[in-house]
Amino acid sequence: MLYNSTLNKEFKVTAAEAIVSGIAEDGGLYVPEYITKISLQELKELVDFDYLSRARCIFSDYLSDFTMEEINECVVNAYNEKKFGSTNPAPIKSVVYNEKEINVLELWHGPTSAFKDMALQILPHLLTKSLKKSRDGKEAVILVATSGDTGKAALEGFKDVENTSIIVFYPEDGVSPMQKRQMATQEGKNVEVCAINGNFDDAQTGVKKAFASFNASKADFGNKFLSSANSINWGRLLPQIVYYFSAYCDMVKLGKISCGDLVNVVVPTGNFGNILAAFYAYKMGLPIKKFICASNSNNVLTDFINTGKYNKNRKFYTTISPSMDILISSNIERFLYLISENDTDFVSDCMTKLKTSGTYSLPSELHNIVKELFYGGYSDEKETKSTIKNMFLQSGYLIDTHTAVAVDVYDKYVTETGDNTPVILASTANPYKFSKSVLESLTEKSNDNVDEFELVDMLYKTTKAEVPQNLLNLKDKEIRFKEIIEPKEMYSFVTKKIRHQNKE
Ligand SMILES: *Cc1c(COP(=O)(O)O)cnc(C)c1O
Repeated sequence: MLYNSTLNKEFKVTAAEAIVSGIAEDGGLYVPEYITKISLQELKELVDFDYLSRARCIFSDYLSDFTMEEINECVVNAYNEKKFGSTNPAPIKSVVYNEKEINVLELWHGPTSAFKDMALQILPHLLTKSLKKSRDGKEAVILVATSGDTGKAALEGFKDVENTSIIVFYPEDGVSPMQKRQMATQEGKNVEVCAINGNFDDAQTGVKKAFASFNASKADFGNKFLSSANSINWGRLLPQIVYYFSAYCDMVKLGKISCGDLVNVVVPTGNFGNILAAFYAYKMGLPIKKFICASNSNNVLTDFINTGKYNKNRKFYTTISPSMDILISSNIERFLYLISENDTDFVSDCMTKLKTSGTYSLPSELHNIVKELFYGGYSDEKETKSTIKNMFLQSGYLIDTHTAVAVDVYDKYVTETGDNTPVILASTANPYKFSKSVLESLTEKSNDNVDEFELVDMLYKTTKAEVPQNLLNLKDKEIRFKEIIEPKEMYSFVTKKIRHQNKE
């Protein structure tokens, strides 16, 4: 299996090279040259497998330059009980909301309590193996722009991993206090964390510019090169495909569906990575009927699905679901490639328009395909808060702000369509990562200037929901990173750190 860029089908690389470089040389994203199929018979076999075996099976199709032994090492090191608290890292919990059963796929049992762990616990293993295959002797400097959860999950995944170091940029006013604390206290010898005066899109643009400047510069950075752990890396997307297959198999095991039945999936969406993984699963043969794409007030994707026009020229909102505060959803580029049947000229045209005018439109044939398979909806701040409260009152089940966006949009979908196909809803963070907003939703009282750990305690007293140990541990950890810079200073920050590392 080789990979080509979304902008050019001629230039092909191995999976190892795609993972190491993150982004293609022409600025496009790597996509597999074809999509492998899982037959119904094979799907039936997966039902009796555990998570690790399901993962091995899907990985082996797409990592054909890895041996089975290497794949096994990656999978076992990433998804063990020590890291995810159980042999199933992504269990299903069925709850009832407004008289409908929702099968919640809990993706936040990893070491940082957000779904990003599902990919970022395995990416460093994939990357170090890929480095040996495709850039022997080189060291990867991982650059990350984060809206909160990716940064911490990447830091935790890469800390003290040989031949790598990691630099994370986050928007100073765009992450929750707990997320900030998680990053500022990060341990590890090879990690750097820096806040920027700007929003997530500024951070992401700054990282892209740093890549361009680094590659264009003739400066000597020794044996170091830049790589990305953002969701544009194929090594992030692939592990996410696994949990949709796994969730489907668990639904069969739980007797909720028979193998072959259709399901709907609901995904709270920001960069379009998580929902795109579900779309890949569908393309591989997983019986999915409808993709319900849930946004917060930054509803650029809702409009895209409903009108066929992508338009990032709009007001940016800082919301209580910060990991979805995104106006440029980078993985849409892969989606355009897939729905246009690998039309690189079309993708290239859309991406150029996005860069120059901030907007592009789908031709009506393509928009019809999107409308047929996708439902786009959004939940504003008030609706998100009341969903948290109603869910807790009805089911005693505590959800975070991002998951609440998904629940609310799903509720709207069912009300509008009457479609009661069994549903898998991706729950992307533990509620204690967003204690302030979750608590305020429940009590309808504001808690300004209350310490983050005090809020955790108050939320626990109100709900008795279990607090993840990793968050409690942060309380006594030293704050290591305090720097705040302008977006335009990001590249010089990177080169300064690399030169410093080289001197040591
Ligand atoms: C990253 C994130 C999302 C959005 O996922 P995408 O893959 O970017 O669409 C949603 N919820 C949480 C909690 C996240 O961390």
